[in-house]
Amino acid sequence: MNRPAMGAHHSIAGGIQNAVGHATKAGSDTFQIFVKPNRQWKPPSFTSEQAEIFREGARGFLLPPVAHASYLINLASPSPETRQKSILSLVNELSACHQLGITDLVLHPGSHGGDGEDVGFTRIKEGLEIAVEKAQGGCFVALEITAGTGKNLGFRLEHLAKIRDEGPTERLSVCLDTAHLFGAGYDLRTVEDVATLSEEIDRVLGWQTVRVAHLNDSKVPFASRKDRHEHIGLGEIGEEGFRAFLSLPRIREIPGIIETPSGEGMDRINLAKLRQLS
Ligand SMILES: [Zn+2]
Ligand SMILES: [Zn+2]
Repeated sequence: MNRPAMGAHHSIAGGIQNAVGHATKAGSDTFQIFVKPNRQWKPPSFTSEQAEIFREGARGFLLPPVAHASYLINLASPSPETRQKSILSLVNELSACHQLGITDLVLHPGSHGGDGEDVGFTRIKEGLEIAVEKAQGGCFVALEITAGTGKNLGFRLEHLAKIRDEGPTERLSVCLDTAHLFGAGYDLRTVEDVATLSEEIDRVLGWQTVRVAHLNDSKVPFASRKDRHEHIGLGEIGEEGFRAFLSLPRIREIPGIIETPSGEGMDRINLAKLRQLS
C-alpha cells in the first residue's frame, strides 16, 4: 500500500447506511461508526435491507470500516447491573458488526470505580468471555489504549496485553489512539520517540495484534492522563510526531481513523493533513 488508509468517524443518524455517503463525501478511505446511538442502552436497530446497503457500500473503500462500542459500556463497573447491561450491549453490538461485515469493534476496557485494578481486570476478562461466546460471528473486540483518566484501566500497553492474554485471546485485538498514548505518557513527538514506542509496542503486545489506529492530536499536555482531541498538527503531538507514526509499517496496513473535532469540512482538512504527512 502506498499510503495508510485513513478516514473519519461518521454519523449513522437517519439510518446505518447513511454513514457510507458521509464517508464518501469526506474522502475517507475507510471509516468508523457507532452501530447504535452511543449514549443509549437500547440495542442496535436496522433492517436486513439497511445492512445489505451498508455492506455493499462499504466494499467501495480501500479498507473495510470499523465500529466503536457505546460509551456506556463498562465491563469493570462496581455495579452488577451496569456490568450486566454492558455485557448485553457488547453482545448486541458484536452481532450487529457481524451483520454489517465489520471485523473490529473498538472498546474502552473499563473503569473499576475505586474497587482496584485486580478486581477490574477480572471483571473485564469475565465480561469479554461471556460476550464473545454469546455474540454472533467472529468480530474482534479491539481493546483501546486509554489516557488513564479517573479509574479507567487500559492506560498501559501491559494492561491490554494482560486482558488479551487472560481473556478470550483469539477474539481480542488492539486499537492504538495517538492522543490517548500521549496522555498516558507514551511520547510520540519525535522520530526517536516513535521508534522507542514502536519497539515497546512490539515487545509488550506484538504489532500484529494491533488492528485499528486512532489518529488524533492532543489538546492536553504530555502524560496529563487527560483525553482531549485536537486537529492534526495543531496539538501537542504535532506534525513531526504524526509523520513518524504514519511511517510505521503496521500503521500503513490498518484503518487509521480520525476522531478530531468535526464540523464544517474539518474531517476533509484533517485527512488531507495526514495524507500530506504520510
Ligand atoms: Zn475510544
Ligand atoms: Zn480513540
